[in-house]
Amino acid sequence: MEIHNYMEDIVKEALNSMLEGTEIKNICKCQKCQYDIMAWALNRLPPKYFVSDKGRLYTKLQEVEVQFRADVIKELTNAITLISLKPQH
Ligand SMILES: [Zn+2]
Repeated sequence: MEIHNYMEDIVKEALNSMLEGTEIKNICKCQKCQYDIMAWALNRLPPKYFVSDKGRLYTKLQEVEVQFRADVIKELTNAITLISLKPQH
């Protein structure tokens, strides 16, 4: 058993699909920038901690995703704009 912040998984997944999308160009996609983007967004999103129980992990992730996806996309879009203007390296 462990405690896990599902918001991290959702942010990571949403960022990956946004970076793969064609609408985002001219942004550095290195590990450092991806982590900077995730950290920025996660600091502005509510943490969603659950005790993880392997069988139910996927269901829980989907529930949280449905509730927060719009907020996650909004914060990631802000983060990407900021980080791409000023990469921290
Ligand atoms: Zn970079």
